[in-house]
Amino acid sequence: MGDAIVAKFGGSSLANSHQFKKVKDIIESDDNRRYIVPSAPGKSNPDDTKVTDLLYVLENLCRHELDMESVLNRIKDKFNEIINGCNIDLDLDPYLDKIIADIRDGATKQYVASRGEYINGIILSKYLGFPFIDAKELIFFDSDGNLDEEMTYRLMSKKLAKYEKAVIPGFYGSMPNGRINTFSRGGSDLTGSLVARATNASKYENWTDVSGFLVCDPKIVDNPRGIETISYKELRELSYMGASVLHDEAIFPVVSLGIPIIIKNTNSPKDPGTRIISDTQTNQNLKNITGIAGRKNFFIINIEKVKLNSSKDFHRKLMSILESHDIYLEHMPSSIDSISLIIDKSHENKIEEIIEDINIICKPDSIDFINHISLITVVGKGMRNTTGTSARIFTALANAHVNIRTIVQGSSELNIIIGVEDNDYENAIRAIYDAFII
Ligand code: ASP
Repeated sequence: MGDAIVAKFGGSSLANSHQFKKVKDIIESDDNRRYIVPSAPGKSNPDDTKVTDLLYVLENLCRHELDMESVLNRIKDKFNEIINGCNIDLDLDPYLDKIIADIRDGATKQYVASRGEYINGIILSKYLGFPFIDAKELIFFDSDGNLDEEMTYRLMSKKLAKYEKAVIPGFYGSMPNGRINTFSRGGSDLTGSLVARATNASKYENWTDVSGFLVCDPKIVDNPRGIETISYKELRELSYMGASVLHDEAIFPVVSLGIPIIIKNTNSPKDPGTRIISDTQTNQNLKNITGIAGRKNFFIINIEKVKLNSSKDFHRKLMSILESHDIYLEHMPSSIDSISLIIDKSHENKIEEIIEDINIICKPDSIDFINHISLITVVGKGMRNTTGTSARIFTALANAHVNIRTIVQGSSELNIIIGVEDNDYENAIRAIYDAFII
């Protein structure tokens, strides 16, 4: 592993000249921060609009031959405030003129959206005095728009080896026909991760506007504790249930190399943030839980059939019914004579048809349906070696008068998932938090 640090700065970290100054201080405070990945400028305040969103609107207006003036001015104003506020010697007009000319020539939506990162990257490179490398020369997609990892790592490591320091705009790359393609929203996180892997970085810092992940949702518990260290797998479990700070796919490129990702706060750089480590590295927090996350709005279909566990084809038939209705199954707790299907509420409109099919094809003894279920996941890889974690959770829930509707625990023992009624959701999370975090 080398000593280079890859530092990605999100939109809120680069929203205006004030934020740019903080970013420069952070980068200059450690000479190893060598590869810098910026997002497009984000919101300066809650009523502001992200440059990427303005660019999507711009492309849409142009496609419908509507007036683009006011949106274009808002983009211009945001960039010019940064350029002027930081005394950067750069004329924005040729860049914007080119975007407009390209849009008129039929440029794709992805190309237009990518220009926020592109221009911001040029501005930041001038400000830092680092070379700018266009991401279209480093990140490659195949003709279907999927990332070509092999080509990306090969060409990116070769190219970046020639640069001691560089600014690489996030979010986009190029297709075999030379056109620009973007990742899904928030994809600069993924660019940073690819750069960290290609340069064999010592760490990947992801700078944002929060000091990492919190043990649980601050809208439910006041001032919850931050998570200092979390493994990749634990993070996947928490993110799946809604804890989001990092793009879902940003973890994969660095996982196998054991490069840690550190979530840091640009507005409070001394805070430790959250360190995301591989699953083989140790987590100090083995005796405790790592985090609690959850979501409302699930339903459960309970199916009873005597001797269900000795039927060879029951599960296959059940799964093929779900598949034929295009249903994603969340979980499937079972007992010898019963099985429960936990399904996201977005599939609620198909319930009657599913139940009818189950009745016809699986011939159960009974079938019923429970609505308004929330799932809460309590994550902590230390559970595997600690006795009593579930006892503490269930005691806390009983003391808070929360009725548990279902429990799921995989044998990986990375998490315990508890189903409660939507009305009990917040109460249950508070009770579990209080039981573990003193
Ligand atoms: N600017 C893009 C977005 O708003 C990508 C990113 O910020 O990561 O989604």
